[in-house]
Amino acid sequence: MIEENVAALLEEISRGNPFGEKVTLVAATKTRTEEEVRRAIRAGICTVGENRVQEFTKKYSAFEGAEAHFIGRLQTNKVKYLIGKAALIHSVDRDGLAREISSLAERKNAVQRVLIEVNAGGEESKGGFSAEETLFALERISALPALKVCGLMAMLPLSEDEALLSRLASGMRKLYEEARERFEGIEILSMGMSGDWRLAIANGSNMVRIGTAIFSARNPV
Ligand SMILES: *Cc1c(COP(=O)(O)O)cnc(C)c1O
Repeated sequence: MIEENVAALLEEISRGNPFGEKVTLVAATKTRTEEEVRRAIRAGICTVGENRVQEFTKKYSAFEGAEAHFIGRLQTNKVKYLIGKAALIHSVDRDGLAREISSLAERKNAVQRVLIEVNAGGEESKGGFSAEETLFALERISALPALKVCGLMAMLPLSEDEALLSRLASGMRKLYEEARERFEGIEILSMGMSGDWRLAIANGSNMVRIGTAIFSARNPV
């Protein structure tokens, strides 16, 4: 199944988004075994994203052949395990975290690529800067010496209301374009998961993070 799912997703995503941009498929590996991860990579996955630092470290050798991203909530005291290993951290949701990433990267003579996480739906339960705060946060965070801010990440709310989701997704695209006009090197809008990736791409996402639609229902934790 993994092989068929990856092939079908890669084929559909290869059409890009309506803005003429290529869309990157990130396979979300949380709760998946190393064997499942390896199968996905053999099937054509070039980028994987893990949620938990401990899992990222444990599965790191299984990520061989793909670019490894970190996509989950990140505690400041765990940043050290990712520097030099995560090609992109999607989930920079507060200034303190950004400062810690920059200072550890600087110590390792590295530059860490990150995305700024936006709480697109203004949900209490989710991390991220509010849409209004995002450009200010970008200004502060992109001034840090050992970080390179490459774009924005958002998780849309779980909702059946397609009109609401489209409105939020296109709002994210607008915010992304404003960011791109004002700051150098902004090129990624990471938005869309198994339930909403088509809608996200239709509204201008250029990176989707997909777990269930590749690996089927989640393994119990
Ligand atoms: C789990 C997860 C995904 C993928 O979710 P699915 O619904 O399984 O596709 C994407 N992004 C983040 C941050 C996740 O935690």
